[in-house]
Amino acid sequence: MYAGRNYQAQVVMSESTRYQCMHCGFECDAMVTGIGEGSGRSPYFLDNDGARDRARMDASAGASNNMHYALRSAVCPKCGKHDAGARREVYVLSALRGLLFGALLGGVVLVLFKGSTTGWGAGIVTALVVMIAMTISRAQRMLTGAILHP
Ligand SMILES: [Zn+2]
Repeated sequence: MYAGRNYQAQVVMSESTRYQCMHCGFECDAMVTGIGEGSGRSPYFLDNDGARDRARMDASAGASNNMHYALRSAVCPKCGKHDAGARREVYVLSALRGLLFGALLGGVVLVLFKGSTTGWGAGIVTALVVMIAMTISRAQRMLTGAILHP
């Protein structure tokens, strides 16, 4: 059993900034919003303040990262193109995280079925479904939030 506190934080950041298209150089004002989530633990209730701060810092870093990618991947109002590199980075990063959680849950299913053939099948299917679902939902969250004002 875990004795201690587990802090969760969610940070929403908004900033008005400039957008510049990497293809045609078009510039305009933009409003970017990023949402970040973070957690911090204080085992045995030591350092509760530190854990709360870590949760908030984690969430702030996530929100700022979200804003960065949302702005970079916005579709240009003039030429209709976007920064494909930014989208690729987001999908790769999200897939890595999704793979980790997918493998964990797939492993749990495998253990529940005691490593039988059915267990391997169910474990692999669980891992794939979790990975794909997490990758898509996380990538979509990271790529949205930029509103351009041409
Ligand atoms: Zn453009």
